[in-house]
Parts: sequence; structure tokens; C-alpha cells
Amino acid sequence: MSERPDVLVVGGGVVGVCTAHYLVERGARTTLLERGEICSGASHGNGGWIFPSESAPIPGPGVIRESLPWLFDPESPFWIQPRANLALLRWLWDFRRACKASAVRESFRLRRSLSLASLERFSEFANKLDFGFTQRGLVLIFRTAKAMRNAQHEVDLLEAAGGSAKWLGVEELRGRVSGLSPGVSILSPELVGGLEFTDDAHITPGDFVRGLAADVARRGAAIETHTEVLGVEWSRRGPVRVRTTRGDFTADEVVLAAGAWTPELTRGLGLRVPVEAAKGYSITVERPEGHPDLPLALVEGMVFVTPMGSRLRFGGTLELAGLDMRVNQRRVDALARTVRSFLPGIPRTPTVEIWRGLRPLTPDDLPILGRPAGTSG
Ligand SMILES: Cc1cc2nc3c(=O)[nH]c(=O)nc-3n(C[C@H](O)[C@H](O)[C@H](O)COP(=O)(O)OP(=O)(O)OC[C@H]3O[C@@H](n4cnc5c(N)ncnc54)[C@H](O)[C@@H]3O)c2cc1C
Repeated sequence: MSERPDVLVVGGGVVGVCTAHYLVERGARTTLLERGEICSGASHGNGGWIFPSESAPIPGPGVIRESLPWLFDPESPFWIQPRANLALLRWLWDFRRACKASAVRESFRLRRSLSLASLERFSEFANKLDFGFTQRGLVLIFRTAKAMRNAQHEVDLLEAAGGSAKWLGVEELRGRVSGLSPGVSILSPELVGGLEFTDDAHITPGDFVRGLAADVARRGAAIETHTEVLGVEWSRRGPVRVRTTRGDFTADEVVLAAGAWTPELTRGLGLRVPVEAAKGYSITVERPEGHPDLPLALVEGMVFVTPMGSRLRFGGTLELAGLDMRVNQRRVDALARTVRSFLPGIPRTPTVEIWRGLRPLTPDDLPILGRPAGTSG
């Protein structure tokens, strides 16, 4: 490399690429290191929802009690692989604390303000990049009155924060989620209602990250793919050294944005980063002709459905199974069955991709931002 960058960014997912973008915008010489291709982690196959209305974190009152039966069901949308791992035990302990009502209210406030700021930034990016940004809201659909009652808690949080949502009766729901041909609904007759949010947006996440990375490279950042970071070394004085499979890189500062793999990089630095890998799956198919351009959440199944241009993506599940990237076919099949049970009217179309990815998940579901106390670089 000819010139030492001011900043090295590790990780070419949405966080690393956006970080590189804002660094370049502020005039920093920036190099991004990615071990695979850009957007080969969680940022590729996710739901693409920019959803400030649903800012409640994953932990919440009653979440532990309600999810316990799922832990023993191989087809459930939530699972923890039993293992004696100190980091996981500490994480679960912190998760339990984050389930308190007061902690949830504070997380909601922070997550909502971050998410509203994100929504604004995405709509600015949409002026110069094409990544399917669509701000037409989304609809939660329910199969049981109990799940509808439970959702009232989140509506209360939202309304207290100045947002709004609209309950839909069955007929209104059918009107809102139109069928593929007149008079034919895609919805199951067993649904009991819906909840509509009008301000939220959806995107095609891979198009966003790859488009922004190409733009950042055009504006002068060096994007080094197939460059795996093996370790980070820093001292109180002098540059930070990053060891990679393509030799050493040095810079004044390093940003770690390696998603679920970040704790692997900080361990050698004596920093505890409470991030667990939370595996999720998605199935992307060709979008049936006339399918509504409206994302749906199939609430009891914890499944999202997002139209993305000529594709339609279904996804969900949350497995705490460490950095294991194996595909659990039973969960993929269960996901497809959930979609068919809520939306039997969607015709089968060819599958484009079955995907799994590891969300970086903190116990309170808040991001970890900023410098570790007492460090530089
Ligand atoms: C099924 C599913 C659905 C989701 N739906 C949504 C949604 O609708 N809306 C939403 O906002 N979020 C959603 N998410 C969460 C979202 O995908 C993640 O929060 C986000 O992608 C995390 O981005 P990231 O940049 O931190 O991580 P990643 O995208 O995983 O990027 C990390 C990158 O670091 C690289 N890397 C790792 N280790 C190294 C190393 N040693 N050296 C170099 N490079 C390294 C990886 O290859 C990877 O490219 C969903 C997640 C899943 C799994």
C-alpha cells in the first residue's frame, strides 16, 4: 500500500461500509478490510426493513417465560444451543436484566431515535443510489387474539414516543393486503386482524451495501476484499497494527465492524464485547406477478415477508448457536410452512436463494458504539 490510511475499517457489511462512507465524507484516508466479498455477512440476506415504529428490543417482560417451550422444539423460530460457554452465560445473564420494563423503555427510546435517523439517511442515499428504497409502511398480521393483545404493549410504547399505528379488522386487512387477482386473497381465512405502520420503509439490503461500497471506492477509499484480519495490536503510542492474510496494515485508528465475529478480534486486546451470533434464515423466490409491494410480518411465526424488486424474501428464526454457519433444513422447512399457513394464496415460484446469516446481537439489543474507555486508536 502506498500511503498509510488514517483509518482502517474491519468488515464490509452495512456497518463497515457506512462507516467508510462517513469517514471519506469527512476527508479521512480510509481503507476497508473484508475477508470475503463486500456484503457477505448478515447484511446480505436480511429482511431489509427500516422500521422505527418497531423499536422494542428483543428482550422484554415475559420474553424468557414465553420462549422457554420453544427451546425444546427443533422447528421453533427461537433456539439456544446448550453449551457451557462463559461468554454465553454472561450474555444470557445480561439479557435477563435487559428484560426489565424500565430497561426496555430506555432501549426503545434509544433504538427509535437511531432508527429514525437511519430512515432519514437511507432516504438521502436513495437520491443517488438505487437500492429499492420504498417508504410505504408495513403490516403485521395476526392469527390469534392473544398475539394482538400482546402487541398493544408495543403500540403504547410507540404512541408515547410520538408515533402511531392503525389496528385493522379482518376485512380492512384483506383490503389492505390485496390479492393477486380481483376477489382472490393471498391471506389465510384464519387470520384475526392486522396492525399497520405507515411511515416505515424497506430496501434491498445487498444492493444498498454493494452500491455504497462502489461509491465509496470511487471517492477514494481503498476496499481490500479477500483480506482476513487475524489480529489487532495497539500500543499507547504509535499506529495500530492490523495483521491480515495479506500482510500487515497500519493506521492511526481502527474501527471494528466485523459483526458477529467482532468478539474474536477483541479477545486478544483484552476487551469484552458482549455480542452473540444470532443465526437467521431467509428464502428468496421470484416474485409472483401482482404480489403487493408491501412488507408483512407473520407475527406468531416470527416471519418477515419483503418484496424486493422482482424478488420476494421470507425470513426469520433466531438461533444462538455460536459461529456455526450450518443450515438447519428443518428450520428452513418450518419457515416455508409458516409462510404457506399465513399466506396460502401465494403461488409457488422458483427459489433464488436459501440463505443463513449471523446477526451480531447484544443482550440489550443496542449497538456498541465508540471508543473503549481508556484507549486510543
Ligand atoms: C434473518 C435476518 C433478518 C434480518 N432483518 C433485518 C431487517 O429487516 N432490518 C434490519 O435493520 N436488520 C435486520 N437484520 C439484522 C442485520 O442483518 C444486521 O444487524 C446487520 O447486517 C449487521 O451488519 P454488520 O455490518 O454489523 O455485520 P455483517 O453484515 O455480518 O458484516 C460483518 C463483515 O465482517 C466480515 N468479517 C468478519 N470477520 C472478519 C475478519 N476477521 N477480517 C475481515 N473481515 C471480517 C464478514 O465477512 C462480514 O462481511 C436481520 C438479520 C437476519 C439474520
